[in-house]
Amino acid sequence: MLTDTHCHLTDDYCAGENLDDVITRAAAAGVGRLICATAEPHDILPAIKIAETHDNIFVTTGIHPEYAGTDPHNFLTPDVLSHPCVIGIGEIGLDYHGGDNDRKAQIKLFEEQLEIARNADLPVAIHTRDAVSDTADILKNIRGVMHCFTSGWELAHVMLDRGFYFSASGILTFKNAADIRETFEKIPIDHIVIETDSPYCAPVPYRGKTCEPFMVRETAKVLAEIKHLQMDELESILEQNTLNLYQKIRQ
Ligand SMILES: [Zn+2]
Repeated sequence: MLTDTHCHLTDDYCAGENLDDVITRAAAAGVGRLICATAEPHDILPAIKIAETHDNIFVTTGIHPEYAGTDPHNFLTPDVLSHPCVIGIGEIGLDYHGGDNDRKAQIKLFEEQLEIARNADLPVAIHTRDAVSDTADILKNIRGVMHCFTSGWELAHVMLDRGFYFSASGILTFKNAADIRETFEKIPIDHIVIETDSPYCAPVPYRGKTCEPFMVRETAKVLAEIKHLQMDELESILEQNTLNLYQKIRQ
């Protein structure tokens, strides 16, 4: 069984009855556990509601850097943090892709959420884009995963020393992503998990389509090749890594 460790099930493609179809297609592809990440503050309660009614769905709750200026304490409340379905804080981080005019506000939101995660003893799922040095400076004394990791070895080796996990997305399968495959070749297999980040980044051969959790198997196939592993070996290693990262799943 595979876990899609980061998908957005509060997105439009899962609206209404579509959600059950998405879950059924995932199960049919052997993707038996889904971890729904939140990015928008108002997705947090709907995501928890989905997890409450499905035994194999868990949630990481967080506020994306595009909401810099938001007070996370209004959303990451004690009730949310102690909810049995909430297994981590994410996605949180820094994104300077569109410029860094709001750099200070992004860092404030990021640091506040890291403090919330530390106090709740929850791992973090990190979004970082064009922000390698600030991310490396800030992300200390916490455990977690670099979600949809594409930042290269420079950041990978720093975060590996700090015990972080690295999540491979559909981008690993892209023809022009040789550098990312090289980075994942170097990352030890016991520090890797996989995700779709659906509805974004559909893997080959589904590029251009709306991504959904069943497609994570395509990323697993490429990872198995890179690591010279049989699929069943890879599946059991990834399962162990997922449980080590998100320890609340076992509870
Ligand atoms: Zn995401």
